[in-house]
Order: sequence, then structure tokens, then C-alpha cells
Amino acid sequence: MVKRTKYLKIDPLVPELHKIRLAARILNRGGVVAFPTETVYGLGANALDSRAVRRIFAAKGRPADNPLIVHIASFRDIKALVAYLPPRANLLMQRFWPGPLTLILPRSEVVPDIVTAGLDTVGIRMPSHPVAQALIRAARLPIAAPSANTSGRPSPTTGRHVLKDLRGKIDAVVDGGPAMVGLESTVLDLTVPVPTILRPGGITYEDLQAVLGEVAIDPAVRGSQVARPRAPGMKYKHYAPRGEVYLVAGELDRVTAKTRALVATWQRTGRRVAVLATRETAPAYEQEPRPDYLEILGSRSQPATIAANLFSALRNCDRHQADVILAEAIAEEGLGLAIMNRLRKSAANRIIQA
Ligand code: AMP
Ligand code: MG
Repeated sequence: MVKRTKYLKIDPLVPELHKIRLAARILNRGGVVAFPTETVYGLGANALDSRAVRRIFAAKGRPADNPLIVHIASFRDIKALVAYLPPRANLLMQRFWPGPLTLILPRSEVVPDIVTAGLDTVGIRMPSHPVAQALIRAARLPIAAPSANTSGRPSPTTGRHVLKDLRGKIDAVVDGGPAMVGLESTVLDLTVPVPTILRPGGITYEDLQAVLGEVAIDPAVRGSQVARPRAPGMKYKHYAPRGEVYLVAGELDRVTAKTRALVATWQRTGRRVAVLATRETAPAYEQEPRPDYLEILGSRSQPATIAANLFSALRNCDRHQADVILAEAIAEEGLGLAIMNRLRKSAANRIIQA
């Protein structure tokens, strides 16, 4: 069914109240609304209403066995959603909420099966973006929200990305400008003896370790093929532009040399080739053989900039009709772990060792 998608441009820092109220009313009536968070844009619906949540899955084409994260705006809202709160959950909430950290906790009965994909756990997060906070408060509801993209595509970091994927399929887009972090939240499982990162994101392994001491990283995060990853979403094709992504890894000089050689090879076969480079390596691609499209993600010393630009860059490669996209690997520390996780998935594990 085609819907008329309402477009609401909003001030990201001081959101206009009448626009927030309008979007909240749509949520209260069981509609689906895309809105900015500090990580990426989310596609929200009333988390307590199975029919509303079903519309999220339909609009995105999301597999039913991939659970949704529930977003709240105040600490007391978590009580009703969980069976119990382990003490270290409190510690993490105090330290990192509001912010890009999702906690996997034992669920309560009020959370519908469709939200958790039948699991006995629920993922909960409190976003820090003023628009997300105002909207959740105004709706007076927990809001289930995955990323507001078509399933399998790069996550949306602007309102324009959302419209490109979901115009005509959702009730409204609240456009508050670009998302700040640019990668999804860190998903941390607290239902196991050692807290385990199921998906790396805006809060790093190092951040969590400083608070918790011991933290584990699920092997799927670094690309190990596991039949049933504990974050069900990790098994699906993800972050994929239309072009085929290859990740080029190794020592930096070799990476640029290998990438340039690959540009020449692919171009000889008539392919359009894009390169996702960094500030440090960009000069290597500004001479022949030139890629058809070059995107400089940022400096290797500022992974936050690379994170903020990554999904947009993948979508830009589509706009430039790249058949092949060559992305340089970066160091897997701090935010680098999350960046590499997304790149690996977007490359479907096609990694070329230089
Ligand atoms: P998205 O909101 O589209 O960024 O995806 C949410 C991610 O969190 C997916 O990878 C889900 O599989 C994961 N997730 C959500 N809820 C749970 C849960 N209860 N247990 C494990 N993983 C979850
Ligand atoms: Mg997603």
C-alpha cells in the first residue's frame, strides 16, 4: 500500500514542539515515523502495539527473526520492560545513557513477541538526540526502532537517505539533519556471565572495559562465520550498496599499491570503480590510474569522522554508479572495531590481503 509520507524538517537542537506533537500523534495512532538519533535514523512505532510494529517490518522488508531495539527517554521507563535489572546494568546506564549503548536484558511480558523475535531478552537504549528524546517523551511510549533503511542497504544518516528508501511506505520522516555518530549503537548482552559485545558501535570496547573490567567480544563481530549469531541481525546481508565492495587490508603502502592495481584491472574490464580512502592515502589516488569516484572518509587519526561519513559514502558510490567499491581497512581499535565490522559486512567478507 502506498502512503503519503509526511516530511517534517525540524531544528535538531531545539525541536519545534508542534512538529514533535504531530509526529507523536502519528505514533500514538499506531503509525510509523522515521526520526534522527545520534547514531543513525530510526524507524519508530509503539513498542507495545504488535500491529504498529508489524508495519516497521513491512516497510523495511526486515526478516521477522531479527529483533528490534526499544527506545526510552527516562530511566524509570525501563522497569516495565525487563524481568529484572542486574546491578551492572545500572552502572552502565549511569555512565553511558543517554547514548549509543543498547543493553540486552531479560524481557518482561509486556514486550510483544514481534519486537523480540520470540527471544526471552529485549534490547533497550536511551538515545541522546534531542529530537529522539522529545518525540519519545511526547508519545509517552517506549518506541521500537530499527534503522530507517530498506533491509540490507546502508543505514540512513540523513533524512534524504530515509526518503530514498522508504518514501511512500511510512507515515512520516522527521528530518533533523545528519546523525552525529553515523554508526548504530553498541549492543551489549548482559544476560551472560561475562558481558558480551554482540555488535560494536558508538560506545567502544575500551569504554566498556573501563567500567566493567571484563568484557567479551562475540566472534561474529570480527567476521567469524557462526551459524547462529547471538544478535540475529548479524547473519544477514547488510550495509550493501549496489556495487560490490572489497576490503583491502595490510600495511598502508601495500594497501594503496594494491588498490591502485585493482582500479586499473577492473577499469580495463569496463567496470566503474570507486575508492573509499583516508586523508593519509588520498594523494595515491589523485594520479593515474584514477578511480571513477574517490571518497575521502577522513583522517585515520580521527575515526569518529570516518564513522560519521561511512554510510553516506557507500550511498554516494551508488549515485556514481560504481560497479566495484574498494575500501581500505583501518586499525581495529576504539571506533575502528565498529567501522571495520560494518565494512566487512558491507563487503560480505570479501577481503583482499595486500
Ligand atoms: P538495527 O536496529 O537495525 O540497528 O538492528 C538491531 C540489532 O540489535 C540487530 O543486529 C539485532 O539482531 C540486535 N538485537 C536486538 N534485540 C536483540 C536481542 N534481544 N538479543 C540479541 N540481539 C538483539
Ligand atoms: Mg539496521
